[in-house]
Amino acid sequence: MERKILHMDMDAFFASVEQHDNPSFRGKPVIVGADPRGRGVVSTCSYEARKYGVHSAQPIKEAYRLCPQGIFLPVRGGRYTEVSRSIMHLLAEYTPLIEPLSLDEAFLDLTASQQIFGLAESIGKRIIEEIQNKLGLSASVGIAPNKFLAKLASDLQKPHGFVVITPENVHEILERLGVEKLWGVGPKTAETLHGLGIGTIGELRQTSPQVLADSLGELGLQLYELAYGHDERPVTPNESVKSIGHEITFQVDTEDHQFLVGVLLWLCDQVARRLRQNDVKGRVITIKLRDSNFKTLTKRSTFDEPTDFEEAIYHEALKLFERIPKAACKVRLIGVSVSDFENKSRAQLGLFETESPLPEKDLTKLHQTIDKLRDRFGERIITKGTILQVQNQVGEKNERHEP
Ligand SMILES: [Mg+2]
Repeated sequence: MERKILHMDMDAFFASVEQHDNPSFRGKPVIVGADPRGRGVVSTCSYEARKYGVHSAQPIKEAYRLCPQGIFLPVRGGRYTEVSRSIMHLLAEYTPLIEPLSLDEAFLDLTASQQIFGLAESIGKRIIEEIQNKLGLSASVGIAPNKFLAKLASDLQKPHGFVVITPENVHEILERLGVEKLWGVGPKTAETLHGLGIGTIGELRQTSPQVLADSLGELGLQLYELAYGHDERPVTPNESVKSIGHEITFQVDTEDHQFLVGVLLWLCDQVARRLRQNDVKGRVITIKLRDSNFKTLTKRSTFDEPTDFEEAIYHEALKLFERIPKAACKVRLIGVSVSDFENKSRAQLGLFETESPLPEKDLTKLHQTIDKLRDRFGERIITKGTILQVQNQVGEKNERHEP
């Protein structure tokens, strides 16, 4: 039986929530993100703001230059998480096979649901209506035989989009789209493909897989499959949180090594705390550095054992940090994230055998105590690293993805 995968993506989510909560913002350019006088970026902006050339991930100062009359609002993470829960709750009515990608996006496998709720297409329409009627927000939906095509479909007619891709129309739709629309194609890969004379997905389909493999290795072969609209990946529930990270954009670029190391410790501390709050341990750590030329460098490594200890995370983060070549430029942004989670209950096995100076059992207890103190008295009750300086900076971004 042909799979029916739905991808739901909220339209300008953060900005729409703000417009919903405050009717006087409706119909106006709303820009959610960092302080417009500072150096952070735009998180999301309303469609009214997009007309001025404002877009997400843009330096907020530039957004302010383009649209000084805009309504600039801070990110209200707690509120968006709350709305997100309601959305995911509503989606879960139709299938247990739901995989959130972020606060405002999810895949649903509706293949089996059709027997109960009718055709996937009608479920898709109902979902859009319910989100509008119950939450007052607008969503776009794509339906297709797989995840890649469903995500592509939901993006084709945004906002209020509703696009169905079938085996019959798939080639026609893919034909003229740029290769950038394929999963796994970033600016670098796009450049390689352009170098081969491949600009569209149609052109990629006509290229021999051997040529693609020679230039791009395994990725080349994957792209070839995607160009044909093939993608076998299942919708995987329970992967709601894929990575937990924390990053900071500095008010002033810095090359102060000691300061950066202090910030790094503070970031690791924040990440570890959120790992514990989510009851997960991660295997992979990534650190991210952006320099004054906006060039972003990332380094990652894998822990021997999944962890939620700031000590372990910091130990590894520092090693990665020292491996990043210190160019002439200064650091603009620094971030730490942990991913590839293991369920904690499974991770319990084989615990308590460690050669760390504090036995793992004691460390776990210590962390629990510190977390409790902070829950009660606030984050500053116990501080590590350079927290006081850091809190003066703007543009702190919370990268948590949760349903
Ligand atoms: Mg969205």
